[in-house]
Amino acid sequence: MSATPRPIDRFVAALTQKGCEPRRFGLGYTSRCPGPEHQPGDVHRALFVGEGADGDVVGHCFGDEDAETILRAAGVGETLQ
Ligand SMILES: [Zn+2]
Repeated sequence: MSATPRPIDRFVAALTQKGCEPRRFGLGYTSRCPGPEHQPGDVHRALFVGEGADGDVVGHCFGDEDAETILRAAGVGETLQ
């Protein structure tokens, strides 16, 4: 038995710590995006977070930031699996 949290749970926890207020949305989450393309205090929920078939984190930012940028900005490193 492993108590290791799923990657998506770790990412959502990191977003919560950043004040991005992730919320459940369908099979994933919507959240404010912690990436550098967004103005501080921007409350637009620009980020969708989902879980890939193999359990990795799939992120899509409507500011066109790539997943590595978002993961780095959330403070969880550049990959999350
Ligand atoms: Zn973004």
